[in-house]
Amino acid sequence: MSARAETSEISARIRELCRGFHLPTVGAEAEPRFVAAGQAGALPTLAEVLEMEDEDRRARRVTRLRYASKLPPGKTEATFDPTRLPPKLQHQLGELASGAFLERSANLLAFGLPGTGKTHAMCALGHRLVEAGHAVYFTPAYRLVQELLAAKRDLMLPRALRKLDQFEVLILDDLGYVQQDPAEAEVLFTLLAERYERRSLVITSNRVLSQWEQIFRNPLATAAAIDRIVHHSVILEFDVPSYRTEAAKRTTASENPDTSERPLSRPGEPVETTNFKDKKKNEPKTRPKAGEVMKRKK
Ligand code: ADP
Ligand code: MG
Repeated sequence: MSARAETSEISARIRELCRGFHLPTVGAEAEPRFVAAGQAGALPTLAEVLEMEDEDRRARRVTRLRYASKLPPGKTEATFDPTRLPPKLQHQLGELASGAFLERSANLLAFGLPGTGKTHAMCALGHRLVEAGHAVYFTPAYRLVQELLAAKRDLMLPRALRKLDQFEVLILDDLGYVQQDPAEAEVLFTLLAERYERRSLVITSNRVLSQWEQIFRNPLATAAAIDRIVHHSVILEFDVPSYRTEAAKRTTASENPDTSERPLSRPGEPVETTNFKDKKKNEPKTRPKAGEVMKRKK
């Protein structure tokens, strides 16, 4: 590269960095003034210092985002063993790590029995997104519902929702454990409606969609909630044995193969899959394929 081309590249970079720092005047004036003062040779050093500022700001932002995310610090990719998951799910998680789903405001729905790694996997994804500079918020579903209820009581619900809106991704952990009374279901619906098609939601649940009536206790409301959430969503099926059970087994000398958990079923419960077929006629009739972005039926 000629010296001249190099200089103009450095100047462009200086302007770009200054724009990023909201210092437009510095960006516009630095180069001509250095040149006029016979100091063009110092421009690479200026660029170098600005790059350092950029890097530090990025690191500080990630630290801030990580703190604000409330993500459990230990649940990262470093402590997660993806090879326990079916290849398809591994592939899905790999793709999601790029964060491209945020641009589509797609939702992620992680289903599977307790202990199959849903929370850990979604937190690891959350950490990855934070590293890339995205605003993520992790919360147990029951806690968020209680907080929203309290906010509503204090007539602060819109404000609480606005606060959540700062986050590009909201991870609602363990929706299945929430036994909704009507007031709880209502704030949850308000939240879903608020984020619908604008911001991503990540939900983990050990209840498949067809069991969500038990969460919302109202078939119509459930249909509405499912409709909203499933529209543009990626279904992640954690169809694996419980990690806790497996870990316990590894430490147990005598192993009884009959006690191994069957994915998505428990004794006395029908084998359930992500399945809509008993639902209203305007809902998708087929089981959504894992990773499939579902389109709402017109
Ligand atoms: P779930 O949310 O599906 O109930 P968790 O994510 O809480 O399951 O996982 C249960 C425990 O097992 C957690 O301590 C988690 O860190 C660990 N665990 C689950 N899957 C994995 C995995 N693939 N690699 C490492 N640890 C795992
Ligand atoms: Mg969990």
